[in-house]
Amino acid sequence: PYDGPSSSEIFKKRKEFLSPSMFHFYHTPLNVVNGKKQYLFDENGRRFLDAFGGIATVCCGHCHPEVVEAIVNQTKRLQHSTIVYLNHNVAEFAEALASKLPGDLKVVFFTNSGTEANELAMMIARLYTGCHDIVSLRNGYHGNAAGTMGMTAQSNWKFNVVQSGVHHAMNPDPYRGAFGSNGLKYAKDVQDLIDYGTWGHVAGFISEAIQGVGGIVELAPGYLPAVYKSIKKAGGLCIADEVQSGFARTGSHFWGFEAHGVVPDIVTMAKGIGNGIPLGAVVTTPEIAQVLTHRSYFNTFGGNPVCTAAGHAVLKVLEKEKLQENAHVVGSYLIDRLKSLQAKHEIIGDVRGRGLMIGVELVTDRELKTPAKAETMHVMDQMKEMGVLIGKGGFFGNVFRITPPLCFNKEDADFLVDVMDCTMSKM
Ligand code: PMP
Repeated sequence: PYDGPSSSEIFKKRKEFLSPSMFHFYHTPLNVVNGKKQYLFDENGRRFLDAFGGIATVCCGHCHPEVVEAIVNQTKRLQHSTIVYLNHNVAEFAEALASKLPGDLKVVFFTNSGTEANELAMMIARLYTGCHDIVSLRNGYHGNAAGTMGMTAQSNWKFNVVQSGVHHAMNPDPYRGAFGSNGLKYAKDVQDLIDYGTWGHVAGFISEAIQGVGGIVELAPGYLPAVYKSIKKAGGLCIADEVQSGFARTGSHFWGFEAHGVVPDIVTMAKGIGNGIPLGAVVTTPEIAQVLTHRSYFNTFGGNPVCTAAGHAVLKVLEKEKLQENAHVVGSYLIDRLKSLQAKHEIIGDVRGRGLMIGVELVTDRELKTPAKAETMHVMDQMKEMGVLIGKGGFFGNVFRITPPLCFNKEDADFLVDVMDCTMSKM
């Protein structure tokens, strides 16, 4: 039983002592005290189905015993930096991680977050090419430090920072984009940016395989191969931000980019990699990795023994419990059920995604695609009251983000859809 302070006491302290920029979901914010598998429990022991835990990094399920054991055992033994000493955890996890990547992507740099991973990837691309210009996608999210905030392209997440050398290309968004699902037409915009906005050479290109914060937006088919070709021709490196779409989430593949038939030069990852432990990584080729030998480069806690022990345990659990296969089977089933719900409720403008990375966009007018912002908040709140937690995102805040732990099952999918149906029917 929970004997900590009440929700209102916590909320009061949070308002007084924590950043005023912090936001929370729901009219009455939820106080989560325990987690197990795909469930969260509040201070009264009430159980909620967590269909948004993926965002908060949980891929194996909350408090997975094998991940917890790896963390606890290593914490009891040693927690330190691995900069100047050897430790088996960091080396073994790097080897295991490299084995999950295609081609020559074999050298791993560990960080503490996705932002740090993307900052490093950006710097590597600039050092390797000797160029400064980077192309990123409108509606993308890559982090909130100086460089990554520049690559992030949604005003909601940007401050007035100097955005040096970043060009934001048209988003190949099949639902709202100007060219619908024609990936090649959007790809032409990247070639135009190179031709008209730079001296013809660029440091690189970065994108998510499925935009997460942007509202689960899949890239139009054919887009990535064409863009990678343009970028390579301009001497740049292609960076895949797998912070949300990596680690088996998309079901059909271990990495999101694989569904597009491309092989990036640099892959960045975080969130799911540690099942809740702060960890990120940049993986690149031995040749590209050489650029960081020109000076000393280190990150005190990146790749520390405890976090890498957790990361290694995550890889083993994903494999042992066949969670990628589960994401594919349960995700496809959930997408089908949500599409049936779309046929019933006019407010559902679009259902999209892959595996257990699913978006449901709400509109008040299907023709005009008018964002149903207030309705999105209302449905989310009502679903929470009925025991289901989902996320939201997108530029207009009108897209449900369904990214549960990968142990989500068909009964959970049915419950989620039934609760959404019930809430929408009452509106
Ligand atoms: N890239 C993507 C695609 C993300 O979704 C996020 C976080 N939402 C980041 C990078 C930044 O990761 P972090 O918050 O761990 O710095």
